[in-house]
Amino acid sequence: MRELNEIIDGTIKVLEDMKRSGVTHVEVSNTTIEELGKPVVLTPKASMATPVASTGDPAAELAAIEARAKVCVKCAELSQCRTNVVFGTGNPRAEIMFVGEGPGHDEDVQGLPFVGRSGELLTKIIAAMGFAREEVYIANVVKCRPPENRTPLPDEIANCLPYLLSQIELIQPKVLVALGATAVRALLDVHLGITKMRGHWYTFRSIPIMPTFHPAYLLRNPPAKKEVWEDMKAVLEKLGRAVPKSR
Ligand code: SF4
Repeated sequence: MRELNEIIDGTIKVLEDMKRSGVTHVEVSNTTIEELGKPVVLTPKASMATPVASTGDPAAELAAIEARAKVCVKCAELSQCRTNVVFGTGNPRAEIMFVGEGPGHDEDVQGLPFVGRSGELLTKIIAAMGFAREEVYIANVVKCRPPENRTPLPDEIANCLPYLLSQIELIQPKVLVALGATAVRALLDVHLGITKMRGHWYTFRSIPIMPTFHPAYLLRNPPAKKEVWEDMKAVLEKLGRAVPKSR
C-alpha cells in the first residue's frame, strides 16, 4: 500500500508542478488509461525491505510490477520526456541478470533494453558466453530515458531502484553483472571507479555481482573488450559453466 500511496503522491506533485508552470491540460495515452483502470495487485514480494521467496510464478509478478512502472510518474522530467517505460526483458528464472544504466534513444522508442548499438554488442557478449539473449534477464537502473542520454540523477536512481530490486528479488539470479559505474553505484555501497572494481566479485543481498564495463564504453574503447571477456569468463566459472570453445 505504501508504494501505491507513493505513486499517488508523486502524481499529485507532478500535476501541481505542471499547473504552477502554466500547463492547463495533460495528454494521456490510451495505454495509460487502460493501465490506470486495472485493479492494483499488491505484491509483498515487491517490497524493498525483505528478500522474497518464490511463489513459483515470477513472470506474473514481474508483469504486475511492470504494469505499475508503465504509469509511474515519480520522476517529473523523465516521465514527461519518455516514449516508453523500459522495464526489462528476458527469462524470469535467469541464471544471469545484466543491469545497465538507463534506456537510450533506441530503447526508449522500442520499449526494450539494450536494442541499439550497445545492445547489439551486449547480445554478442551473451552469445559468446553460450547463452541466447532470451535465457538471461536484462534491465536498467532507471526505466525511463534521461534527456540527451545524461547520467540519471541521484533522485531518479532512488525513485526507480525499488523496481530493479523487485526484479532481482523475483528472478533470484545466480549472478548479477553490473554494466558500468551507474549500475555498480546503485547496487553497491563501494566508491571506487569501475576500472578498479571490474574483475572483482562483490555481493548484493547474497548474490555474487561482477562489475564490468558498459557496452557503450566498449564501442568507444574496443580494446577494453578483452577485459570484459575476462570478467565474463569469471561469471561462467562462478556458474560452473565451461567457456564456449567457438570464441
Ligand atoms: S525512471 Fe523509474 S521512477 Fe522515474 S518515472 Fe521512470 S519508472 Fe518511474
